[in-house]
Amino acid sequence: MPRSTVCLSFDFDALSVWLAYDRVTPAMLNRGEYGARVGVPRLLRFLEEHELGATFFVPGHTVESFPEETASILEAGHEVAHHSYAHIDPSLQTPEEERADMERAWSVLERIGITPLGFRAPSADLSESTLSLVEELGFLYDSSLMTDDYRPFHPRIGDKVERGVPLERGRESRVWELPLCFELDDWVHFQFNFDPYRKGGATPSDVLEIWQAEFDWMDANVDGGILTVTMHPQVIGRGHRVAMLETFVEHCLEAGARFERMGNVAQALS
Ligand SMILES: [Zn+2]
Repeated sequence: MPRSTVCLSFDFDALSVWLAYDRVTPAMLNRGEYGARVGVPRLLRFLEEHELGATFFVPGHTVESFPEETASILEAGHEVAHHSYAHIDPSLQTPEEERADMERAWSVLERIGITPLGFRAPSADLSESTLSLVEELGFLYDSSLMTDDYRPFHPRIGDKVERGVPLERGRESRVWELPLCFELDDWVHFQFNFDPYRKGGATPSDVLEIWQAEFDWMDANVDGGILTVTMHPQVIGRGHRVAMLETFVEHCLEAGARFERMGNVAQALS
């Protein structure tokens, strides 16, 4: 049975995720900066110690605001992928705004020598136009959807769906989808916030139980399954959570899993 693969992905949102909220305060922005100041260096040390390659989805706003931290990710040999410019949920943008934001982020990445292979939508949400744009811009993969769990697939473009009318399927896109899920997303479990309210504050052992059980089930039941874990340096970077990530990584390694950058996974599929 082919080995299981785990993809560690980090959305290095820094300030951008907070700026996308309706009401932002200086204290919220400082929480975002923690990701650059503490999270990224700590995670890079962790990845180096364990000799793991990872994928960092970095908004253009972060690349330009934290150029040294972004450079350190590249110098450590990790993949940097596209995560919009301003971290606005695409479903809240007009098609013109979405295209302009995507193209701006693409040129910011090109300026630091990156031709991104992958895209992840801010807030893991899409507009009607997102997948067409992702295909048109030439991305190899997207990682924003939850249609499947452990198997890459080609998401459809142009579905017709209405209340009371059966689904009419669109065409399959050329893009590979490397699916994610909120159960395997640190933000959902851990990130407390006043407004918009997020409960957060989970105990790491509870989250570890979910993550390990997802891996174990996949490893036992799916040939060559791929598990994508979504994390944020400003969330997973806290000491007690890095300790949890270390336990999770060791658990998967003991079971014989390999850790891969998402771009490598998508290239191997193509
Ligand atoms: Zn993000």
